[in-house]
Amino acid sequence: MAMALSGELFEEPLTISDSARADALACLDTWDYDTLALQEASGGHALLLVGEALFERHKLHEPCHVDRAVLHRFLRALEACYGDHEYHNAMHGADVALGVHHFIVNFGLTARLTKLELLAALVGALVHDFDHPGTNNGHEVRAGTERALMHTDAILEHHHLHSTFKLLAVPDFDLFGAMPADDRELCRKLIVDMVLATDLKMHNDFTSTLSTLAAQHGATAAGALPSRENFTSPFQAQALVGVPLLLAVALKFADLSHCFKPFHIHKHWVERITNEFWALGDRERQLGIAVSPLCDRDKDSNVPKSQIGFFNFICVPFYSIVADLIDPTMLPWLRVQANLQEWGRRR
Ligand SMILES: [Zn+2]
Repeated sequence: MAMALSGELFEEPLTISDSARADALACLDTWDYDTLALQEASGGHALLLVGEALFERHKLHEPCHVDRAVLHRFLRALEACYGDHEYHNAMHGADVALGVHHFIVNFGLTARLTKLELLAALVGALVHDFDHPGTNNGHEVRAGTERALMHTDAILEHHHLHSTFKLLAVPDFDLFGAMPADDRELCRKLIVDMVLATDLKMHNDFTSTLSTLAAQHGATAAGALPSRENFTSPFQAQALVGVPLLLAVALKFADLSHCFKPFHIHKHWVERITNEFWALGDRERQLGIAVSPLCDRDKDSNVPKSQIGFFNFICVPFYSIVADLIDPTMLPWLRVQANLQEWGRRR
């Protein structure tokens, strides 16, 4: 993080309209939450509003010993230092926290988690790309950055965690400061495992773990299609899906969630990631190093084609298996297929 932070920086109250606060609450009740619109309506405070609304909705403060003033400062510090890249910024953090919330609530998994595990899930989502430099792990190595010297593997994921724990080490922002030591330790471990699972290098391994589970316990294997009668998702069973796996799936599901938004929202996120990728390609050309995949604004200019590749290699294999494991008729999976078709029409 570029700046040294103290809680005093965030003492000044914010003027946020009641309608923006209502918008944030509405995001908690629909799969079609639009964090970009919320960011605009709230004057740049989507993450703050979403974070506070999620803690209230899940009633996390008292059972988890979280002070409201500390939470407020922590969320504002996240917003201030998330990084201002077009895609990897505080809005994405807020968007992914909403995705994790919807995954847990809409798939009936709230009862699988303790309050502390729920807190870890939401905080892990909020911080999962914190202090993002607008690069990728391959770039970090090729450019020989300080981060690549500090972390040998999953460089950015370790960096997001490092920056998060550095922030939490300042008492004004220490969300876990009043927790019993065991709870702190558990929270930290759950967040570390979740964030490390977002490394796309692990994506295929991750998908095959879920495939193995689906082959034995998915709706297709259970003969539960198309009616789903008598089908209980393995996600309901602790013996089949432990909490760390459940949280990792929730975070991955949410991290890619723009691909299941209504097309006009999805397209905004795609424009943002594309611009961020191309800006990185420009920097790489200046540095005289190889340009990262999809980051060459001349060669990778066909956005529909890039999206079709992204859907076919990353999104479809993942969401189809998650749907088979939880609910084959889930709206996100239907949307992924519809959005893929729409890119096909635009190609
Ligand atoms: Zn992310």
